[in-house]
Amino acid sequence: MSGEKYLQSLRKLERKVYIRGEQAADPMGHPLVQPSARAVAQTYELEQQPEYKALIFARSHLSGRPVNRFTHIHRSTDDLVNKVKLQRLLGQRTGTCFQRCVGLDALNALEITTFEMEKDLGTPYYRRFNRFLKQVQDENAVCNGAMTDPKGDRGKRPHEQADPDLYLRVVDENREGITVRGAKCHQTGALNSHYIIAMPTLAMREEDRDYAVSFALEADAPGIIYILGRQPSDSRKMEPGQADLGNLFYAGQECLIVFDDVFVPWERVFMFKEHSYSGRLVERFAGYHRQSYGGCKAGTGDVLIGAAAALARYQGVSKASHIRDKLVEMVHLNETIFCCGIACSAGGRPAASGAYLIDLLLANVCKLNVTRFPYEIARLAEDIAGGLMATLPSLADLEHPEIGPLLYKYLQGAAGADTACRLKMLRLVENLTLGPAAAAYLTESMHGAGSPQAQRVVIARQADLEQKKALAGKLAGIEEGS
Ligand code: SF4
Ligand code: FE
Repeated sequence: MSGEKYLQSLRKLERKVYIRGEQAADPMGHPLVQPSARAVAQTYELEQQPEYKALIFARSHLSGRPVNRFTHIHRSTDDLVNKVKLQRLLGQRTGTCFQRCVGLDALNALEITTFEMEKDLGTPYYRRFNRFLKQVQDENAVCNGAMTDPKGDRGKRPHEQADPDLYLRVVDENREGITVRGAKCHQTGALNSHYIIAMPTLAMREEDRDYAVSFALEADAPGIIYILGRQPSDSRKMEPGQADLGNLFYAGQECLIVFDDVFVPWERVFMFKEHSYSGRLVERFAGYHRQSYGGCKAGTGDVLIGAAAALARYQGVSKASHIRDKLVEMVHLNETIFCCGIACSAGGRPAASGAYLIDLLLANVCKLNVTRFPYEIARLAEDIAGGLMATLPSLADLEHPEIGPLLYKYLQGAAGADTACRLKMLRLVENLTLGPAAAAYLTESMHGAGSPQAQRVVIARQADLEQKKALAGKLAGIEEGS
């Protein structure tokens, strides 16, 4: 499918969407939405480019046909590695979040978990899931992976909340299906998706069994309400001329999705109150998405490092040893993130269903690094860029007959450096470190796929300190158990 065809397919959806206090009649035509849809469209555009064939296409284990990798169930460590490489490439091309990975990660986590549920419990979840998956692959659809509940009082379990809807839950069931109520926060690319895949947000217990629910829905199913999230400086996208965008083409997108008593037919229900399976579904989805960041954030980091290096040249400091050091440090941090993404992929293993799961310990190490390193890369980029990045007049002023020549005179850099290029590059660094893309490159690095503490919990569980103690004890001549 071409990017243009994909964008057309979204325009057909009839959804209830709110943007800045108003219901949007044409959300896909809205200037706050279009750059994010263009970023997802890049995942289709790659299909048209023969040099990326091996990365963007994978062979479906269901049909044997080539499918877009964003709809593929990983069948080997090569698949896992290619996923991370593809994400880096797309991060490089868009300089922001291209949104399609959450759905991919949800599909893979569900494939493994529904297989186990069907095997253990005899429920038809795996068969249902595979019918849905086939449809997604045939349609080359975008799925939104919806996990994060609002959570209300974080010190309380779902059923203890003052308002029981603060976690998405089942409120009714009949012969045809179930009715769900609740909300999902920070939903990446929600308006750019054809389907919503909902999953529980944490390991549920018996008392919380109504909250142990997973399903897929058409994005325009009745009762779903989308409320677009804001990003820093996003209203620049609505300014005429868009001179101060920084990234002229792409942006990420997050929404609050409200499920206002939404009906889900049984055919699309993949978990229904089996609370003991919710924890492993969460852990797998989070693990896959923590792997994902090893690709996408490294790709965005490449753009930021490139912008900093270009600014160093425009400003005449590219030979200064401390600037070179800073650029090397940025590369080192960025490649460390990527190494972790590749390592957890190379260390992947097949689950019982045959799908490949990443090495969970290494995926969590990957994401914990991502909660820190992009901030340091951004700090170094700001250091190199200089204060002008945050005090720059509008680039529209360059066109003004009186002040334009003054800006060219007083904001020029090194001899031979184009002043307009310097200022555009400063805008791009601003976009990535303080502007709309900072939501994707920084805050999402902190909280996306789980906040740092969530990774520490998994690392602590996977660390096997007993085995390490035994290793040390053996070399020190200490008997086991002493
Ligand atoms: Fe993909 Fe990265 Fe965006 Fe997650 S944050 S959807 S991994 S681009
Ligand atoms: Fe994310």
